[in-house]
Amino acid sequence: MPAPSSDFSSNESFEKTNAGNADVDNTDADNADKTIVIVRYGELSLKSKGVRDRYEQILKNNIQQMLEYHGVSFSKIQRDFGRIFIHSKDPKAAAAAALVFGVVSVSPAYSCVSEPDKIVSLCADIGEKMIQDGETFAVRARRSGNHSFTSNEIAKQCGDAIWNKLLESGKAPAVDLTNPDKEVFVEVRQKQSYVYSESIKGPGGFPTGTQGKMVVLLSGGIDSPVAAWLMMKRGVEIVPVFFDNEQYAGSIVAEKAIENAKVLFSWMPGRKQKIYRIRNGEYMEKMMQTTGTKNICLMCKRFMFRIAGAVMEKEKASGIITGSSLGQVASQTAENMLSETYGLCLPLYHPLLAFDKQEIVDIAQKIGTFEISIRSNGEKECLAVPEKPEVKAVLTAAVSEEEKFIFSIDEMIQKTVENAEIIEIKI
Ligand code: ATP
Ligand code: MG
Repeated sequence: MPAPSSDFSSNESFEKTNAGNADVDNTDADNADKTIVIVRYGELSLKSKGVRDRYEQILKNNIQQMLEYHGVSFSKIQRDFGRIFIHSKDPKAAAAAALVFGVVSVSPAYSCVSEPDKIVSLCADIGEKMIQDGETFAVRARRSGNHSFTSNEIAKQCGDAIWNKLLESGKAPAVDLTNPDKEVFVEVRQKQSYVYSESIKGPGGFPTGTQGKMVVLLSGGIDSPVAAWLMMKRGVEIVPVFFDNEQYAGSIVAEKAIENAKVLFSWMPGRKQKIYRIRNGEYMEKMMQTTGTKNICLMCKRFMFRIAGAVMEKEKASGIITGSSLGQVASQTAENMLSETYGLCLPLYHPLLAFDKQEIVDIAQKIGTFEISIRSNGEKECLAVPEKPEVKAVLTAAVSEEEKFIFSIDEMIQKTVENAEIIEIKI
């Protein structure tokens, strides 16, 4: 399984977030070598206190699960107002934490007690290590709590100390506050201070599990894994439902869908997961006996939605996600999408509706599903797709087709769901 790429990682400028005054308890406070990862989060800090507490606790658990999944060693994870701190010397810790939904950015940092001489000496050591001969630098400091110095004063003292240390080591120091080659960030809190040089961008959004659970119609294609990932980023847990068209399906479609599901699960590790594999060859065959070829895709999609609705109820989920993107293929014209859902009362979400294909591909590459989705053995993915599918269905087209069925659609749904293969996976 491809590991999610770290493409969310990029240096970003120092962000002003709402640092609180309460400090984490660092029993090794005097040990300046102790490394820590500062985790920042965004939107959830705007919630009311009770909700924020709950979300922060979920985020903390999710970070722990991600660290364990990536085999990162750590001694503890602590919540502090507006921040989570991971106590770890493992160089993989920051990159792993930056994969967790809800995380806006992370910085691997050194910490020391909030005493000016300790902060200044730590800055000088770190500055000397990271700034090369001839490179310009700047110190950016921020402070919260009660101290005998301001953030400007500590920034100046740190800058002077770095300057002197560079000189001592034979490097030519140069300050550029506007566009420096290197930046040293200092974050002073009440008892502890943190010094770091880089921020790795996280995916943002909400922690997985804060927005309930939804069923996702997951195919082997490029789009639906991206749609699922975007909803996961907003805090949704997913239950993938894959339709195996059996005699009408290409031979590698199922394995691609299952592999994509596993990649998606790796973004929310530490849980028992389920994939529903729905075998709908019988429905396809019976439906095609009564439906004109033009409408096959319409009727297939309608059946998928109904089955997804049944799985949604079974799983106590609250929505159905698809990878539909307006106009992308025949089945996704506005007219078809309306006809496909006419008379159905289902909470369908199409997060990619307004995305261009290239935008979808870019995300698929970042999240690790693209290479699986484009795998091909030369076969068609669905042999039932007609040469000229309906692109402008009238509103009631699908309903009129269903009236021609010589089988009970409700019984077919029940039977198909009962025969579903539930693949259980622990990631
Ligand atoms: P994708 O690239 O996600 O496969 P697509 O571009 O091939 O989508 P359609 O075949 O029209 O487009 O499917 C639209 C959506 O319907 C998909 O994004 C997916 O959510 C759902 N879907 C299509 N085929 C399947 C399938 N075999 N199993 C589950 N869901 C499917
Ligand atoms: Mg596609």
